[in-house]
Amino acid sequence: MDIFKGQNLLEFSDHFKTDTDCKEYLAGLKSEIPFKCSRCHHTACQTRTDFSKQCNICRHTESATADTLCHKFKFGARKAFFHLL
Ligand SMILES: [Zn+2]
Repeated sequence: MDIFKGQNLLEFSDHFKTDTDCKEYLAGLKSEIPFKCSRCHHTACQTRTDFSKQCNICRHTESATADTLCHKFKFGARKAFFHLL
């Protein structure tokens, strides 16, 4: 998965049309970091259709946007991305 390098706002907007696009991007970034369950510290997980990850042992689910800046924004990943510009 390529890291998005575009600085142009239009290019950015074209790349991230929906919150799902943002989550997919973030999930792609997170997938390069080995999963570690924050509850039981197990490292095996399943990726769900909404890009969240579920621990194989305790079933704890980590959101695709957990541990990211977007997690702090309540109004959606896409708007949060715009605030980062
Ligand atoms: Zn776990």
